[in-house]
Amino acid sequence: MRRISIFGATGSIGQNTLDLIGRDREAYQIVALTGGQNVAQLAADAKRFNAELAVTADPARLADLRSALAGTGIEAAAGPSALLDAASRSADWVMSCIVGSAGLAPGLRALEQGASLALANKESMVCAGPLMLATARAHDATILPVDSEHSAVFQALIGEDIATVERVIITASGGAFRDWPLADLAKATPEQAAQHPNWDMGQRITIDSASMFNKALELIETKEFFQIDPSRIEAVVHPESMIHALVGFTDGALMAHVGPPDMRHAIGFALHYPDRKSLPVERLDLVALGQFTFRSADETRWPALRLARGVMATGGLSGAVFNAAKERALDGFIDKRIGFQQIASVVEEVLSRVSAQQGHIDADITLDNVMNADHLARVRADEIMTELEG
Ligand code: NAD
Ligand code: MG
Repeated sequence: MRRISIFGATGSIGQNTLDLIGRDREAYQIVALTGGQNVAQLAADAKRFNAELAVTADPARLADLRSALAGTGIEAAAGPSALLDAASRSADWVMSCIVGSAGLAPGLRALEQGASLALANKESMVCAGPLMLATARAHDATILPVDSEHSAVFQALIGEDIATVERVIITASGGAFRDWPLADLAKATPEQAAQHPNWDMGQRITIDSASMFNKALELIETKEFFQIDPSRIEAVVHPESMIHALVGFTDGALMAHVGPPDMRHAIGFALHYPDRKSLPVERLDLVALGQFTFRSADETRWPALRLARGVMATGGLSGAVFNAAKERALDGFIDKRIGFQQIASVVEEVLSRVSAQQGHIDADITLDNVMNADHLARVRADEIMTELEG
């Protein structure tokens, strides 16, 4: 039996992962499941899968979790240190699907145990790509991409020599506002931004799709994960979301990964890697689909993409600053402190203020330095949002 842990089990990726595991229950032993506020879901899943341990990120929810698990023999724990303890338990395969930079430390800890880390938490690569790769190397651990675009690139590269890659193209749906006139974006609400045209995902990544911050993070993730020069990485809007990425080789061939917008493909690929097993995803009827279309990913409409280019050029801790500023600005938008287009202006201003402070971008990429940069960026983002309100 393979020993499996899921960090962020109660979220969209976590639930899709449990859906796949539940179809072949006998093959897996669940070590740890973790969640946040939704302890009812966490406890129900821990019982259904007979987990060894359930952890809520919120210490205030521990009593509820304990009572929901009373008499089951399943351990209950809470808080960031309990999350790290869970990540220290030996597991063969760990799904990292906490949202935000909170997913970085547990993922690193799992790599230190030599686990195969299925990485949905793109923020880990954006904030600390070199540290993730070095930790995996040092502990003979593997990182498997779960972001659909990166799983697609990974699959297109199997058996290929990375030196023959000319370009990598990741696709974007364009999100909720892709057909809105630019002039209307200033009035866009969080409720409208959280309606994704193609994918059913968590609230935060769905809003990030509308602002293209999700694609911005993914451009950086592509650079870090595959060690490809940023000049070779492109984003293109593909409203149907059926092609997830394309890899172009030196002979002019473009290898495209095509499939329905269902995360269980990328999750299942990472779960069974290096094998391919049957997965419960729709088989596409190309004739019924008729056509695939593409549009340019306009950096005026989506300034997040331009900011990502700057981050890729600067490197160092700029990814951590960019991500944390975006997380806070997104909170500000959800809380209606700032407007939709101000998300990007807040992030740009945080990058500029933090860069102006000596030593904040070019420090070594250690977990401590990343978390300090993350903290500083959040403080600056709050300052800027307060200025905007005032
Ligand atoms: P989600 O909001 O549905 O779930 C997030 C999970 O993280 C939940 O279990 C939540 O309780 C937990 N969590 C939230 N904050 C936490 C904290 N501070 N500490 C510990 N746990 C915390 O999110 P999601 O859509 O499943 O996305 C998860 C990750 O996967 C994100 O990094 C996202 O970018 C990435 N991803 C998601 C999809 C998708 O289809 N949903 C696709 C590609 C990549
Ligand atoms: Mg993606």
